[in-house]
Amino acid sequence: MKTLMAANWKMYKNKEEASATLADLALRLTALPQNREVVVFAPFTALSACSSALADNSHIALGGQNCYPAAEGAFTGEISPTMLLNCGCAWVLAGHSERRSLIGETDVFVGKKTAYALNAGLNVVLCIGETSGERDSGKLTDVLVRQLEAGLADISTDIAAERIALAYEPVWAIGTGRVAGPTEIAESHAVVRNFLKKRLPRQSQDIRILYGGSVKPENTKEIMTLDNVNGVLVGGASLQAESFSRIVLA
Ligand code: PEP
Repeated sequence: MKTLMAANWKMYKNKEEASATLADLALRLTALPQNREVVVFAPFTALSACSSALADNSHIALGGQNCYPAAEGAFTGEISPTMLLNCGCAWVLAGHSERRSLIGETDVFVGKKTAYALNAGLNVVLCIGETSGERDSGKLTDVLVRQLEAGLADISTDIAAERIALAYEPVWAIGTGRVAGPTEIAESHAVVRNFLKKRLPRQSQDIRILYGGSVKPENTKEIMTLDNVNGVLVGGASLQAESFSRIVLA
């Protein structure tokens, strides 16, 4: 299994900044180890420029940060999986906590997107994670299982393991500088792995589970050694090629 090192650029970077960062990243990752896979989730407006910047670089993949579960239609402001493919994307994010909390995306809607995007040919990183209140009130497992059940409800049981990854991102660790501890990460990743054993038994050991939440070059190595951690999803520290390349190569 290749570890998946993913960058989420959120609503940062215009197309010139994005393509320059990506070109810089590609240079720093020319000697990418065989066991690492890299994907950058760039803003929609920068995807085509990023795709051109990557032209001959097959070792970095592009992703969109969201999509709508339809081929086309009267969905003002939305982007279809086909449009993302057309801009050079191989991946899409689903269920990021910022979309769940700020835009009001429900577990069920996230599940519809996940299944639709996979059927359309995109690979998906499905994000899940609990708030601090949910953790403090002992609901960690319930929340993760609820998000997993809905998020994976409609996907084919024949799905290839490398086409879907789960990102465990505790909401209280995103953009806060507060990293989940080794025990907290291992406990949550075990919940995800156990769920996969029941839902997708054939693929369960090969589906990658990423950790996300204040990952930095300094803490990546330790996080990557934990049980059931098969990669990272990085926000703030992925915005500079220098720091993200150090994370990828940690
Ligand atoms: C994220 O946006 O998915 C994320 C993990 O952000 P940060 O690394 O900044 O906490």
